[in-house]
Amino acid sequence: MTGETKFSVMVSLFEWIQKTKYSAKKRSKFRKFLDTFCKPEDYFSAIRLILPSLDRERGSYGLKESVLATCLVDALGLSKESPDALRLFNWRKGGAKTGVNAGNFSLVAFEVLQSRQVMSSAGLTIKELNDLLDRLALNENRADKTSVLSTLIKKTNAQEMKWIIMIILKDLKLGISEKSIFHEFHPDAEDLFNVTCDLKLVCEKLKDRSQRHKRQDIEVGKAVRPQLAMRVSDAQSAWKKLHVKEVVMECKFDGDRIQIHKNGGEIHYFSRCILDGEMLVWDSSSNRFAEFGSNQEIAKAARDGLDSHRQLCYVAFDILYVGDTSVIHQSLRERHDLLRKFVRPLKGRLEILVPDGGLNDRRLPGEPPCSLIAYNVNAVERFFEETVKNRDEGIILKDLGSKWEPSDRSGKWLKMKPEYIQATSDLDVLIIGGYYGSGRHGGEVAQFLVGLAERPAPNTFPRRFISFCRVGTGLSDDELAAVVTKLKPYFRKYEYPKKGPPSFYQVTNNSKERPDVWIESPEKSIILSITSDIRTISSEVFAAPYSLRFPRINRVRCDKPWHECLDVQSFIELVHSSNGT
Ligand code: ATP
Repeated sequence: MTGETKFSVMVSLFEWIQKTKYSAKKRSKFRKFLDTFCKPEDYFSAIRLILPSLDRERGSYGLKESVLATCLVDALGLSKESPDALRLFNWRKGGAKTGVNAGNFSLVAFEVLQSRQVMSSAGLTIKELNDLLDRLALNENRADKTSVLSTLIKKTNAQEMKWIIMIILKDLKLGISEKSIFHEFHPDAEDLFNVTCDLKLVCEKLKDRSQRHKRQDIEVGKAVRPQLAMRVSDAQSAWKKLHVKEVVMECKFDGDRIQIHKNGGEIHYFSRCILDGEMLVWDSSSNRFAEFGSNQEIAKAARDGLDSHRQLCYVAFDILYVGDTSVIHQSLRERHDLLRKFVRPLKGRLEILVPDGGLNDRRLPGEPPCSLIAYNVNAVERFFEETVKNRDEGIILKDLGSKWEPSDRSGKWLKMKPEYIQATSDLDVLIIGGYYGSGRHGGEVAQFLVGLAERPAPNTFPRRFISFCRVGTGLSDDELAAVVTKLKPYFRKYEYPKKGPPSFYQVTNNSKERPDVWIESPEKSIILSITSDIRTISSEVFAAPYSLRFPRINRVRCDKPWHECLDVQSFIELVHSSNGT
């Protein structure tokens, strides 16, 4: 029977997965849950709770932390000035007096709920939970949302509610990738999701987990996950990567990636197609695309007819489906031919990006083309320089012989943006250790040892981090305190000579580099954006071959997961290109 699976079972699974360090164990636990505790009829109900950001079935909740705090305060009947309400409103600073959970809304909420909710589970099923979450998304006004939250609070204990809050915020912090979840569910699940973006369909079609599914191609009307570009830092490495391939260089337009699925209708002479491209704003008074950064506002004004010079313009750089067949398996060169054949451009409204003609013909005299075949590395360098001078966002290089693959970032497309190769640009590095401060920072960690990732194999997370530099300035006292508070539970003392650093970190034997505490494991850590005015220096103190002189923290990247840390190779390429070597 549907809907029997209890949410409390999932909560135990979540707690267990979150506490376990090893991904193989996380995966096998999840598999066991599916094998033993979850009925096939409940697969979708369960998996949509684990992968909330992939669930398109339910609309948006319209609840970020601050609104959620207000709704919870009302749902709990708290006065706005009460200590608990203030904890929720000031969640960034940490909930309790000790501030232990600073910056983690669900944990702060857990502290508040703990003293108010019953300890035992009331037996909420995942079916009931999903129904309530549907209501939460459907109800538009805040009072209605509050009433759903108060029902949820009545039907759960604090631990369950903590996870519900994470589900609402669409971030479970489980440390298990979406790829692993799909894989444990069914060997064909990821492929099927990539070409449908439909979690419900995936769970229903693959309900029989022992039965392989015929590989499905893309369809008109089903969103497909985009082909992605791999980042490179300079023309040399790009050229090396695309070695001996025929390459097209294109402008990287800074708009919004949009897929157009056309099914019938009267415009143009193709009846069914899927186009891949970028939505931009065309300025007819200057005959060029509007500067990046302002697209959204201009787009709104253009749509509402408030700006007569500017209008939305779609630049199709690829075609994925024509007539009644998918064409993603054809080469890019062939797909360019299809674009030319089936899409009739309309100036400033619908344009095509191909090496001959198309949008190139709209460039003003003196402007570089926006799509060009490259025959050597010098051509790539020239194209990049000219494009950047022309204030375009960067360039994309594409292997003309490659097929279009959903969700792939293996290097068929490469992107090069100017900010990656300036010495003064921000570097996103991971905190791996901390040094105690003195004076007003006495007794607390006040500086950090940061690391770069060892470049991981494609589609995997980095496993090792190489010590890179020591950084302490740049943050306000409050910002520093929030980072330290957040990391404190994961500080591990370094006791020389008994205990070395955790095995994920590579360091030298230099004593200057030894932090007072290590971060227990990289997944628990935080990314910092750091800058440096002065050139990089060859490093003898730290394990990475270069370090920074006078580094400073620019900001704390709470929005970036640990595994998106800059890797050593990219950093070295960046140093070489900015030193002109
Ligand atoms: P970024 O923040 O650098 O745009 P991203 O993570 O959104 O990166 P990537 O796959 O790394 O996406 O970069 C490709 C993106 O660049 C596409 O999603 C698309 O929106 C944009 N883009 C602009 N011009 C082109 C082009 N000519 N060909 C392909 N993608 C392009």
